[in-house]
Amino acid sequence: MDCIFCRIANGEIPTKIITETNHSIAFLDAFPLTKGHTLIIPKKHHEKIQNMSSEENIDLFSTVHSVISKVDKLTGATLMAVHNGKEAGQEIPHVHVHLVPRSPNDTGGPIHCLFDSTLNVSDSEINEILQKLQD
Ligand SMILES: [Zn+2]
Repeated sequence: MDCIFCRIANGEIPTKIITETNHSIAFLDAFPLTKGHTLIIPKKHHEKIQNMSSEENIDLFSTVHSVISKVDKLTGATLMAVHNGKEAGQEIPHVHVHLVPRSPNDTGGPIHCLFDSTLNVSDSEINEILQKLQD
């Protein structure tokens, strides 16, 4: 499979690597949204977090935990986003965590700005959703 993140993990593409563990790799995004925009990926190809082993998940998120502390020092606040599947806006079908250093004047706005602010959800719909998630 021709996956750019697999190629980065295999060292086939020169990348600005921040740190590397047994199962994960953290590097600077080649097309940063803000200065210090970082990506953290599992080395093995998985489209969704649910497909990763527990060991890989622990490794990925402990790498996030250690790297986000450093990224946070750049501007004082870091947005974390995980693209988990195509429907979630994932352009490359390989799990990746974005760490985007934010500042009050970066014009990005809160994450709500990405979505329709006129969305109406009835109480019955909310309860239905809640039940599905609790099952
Ligand atoms: Zn991949």
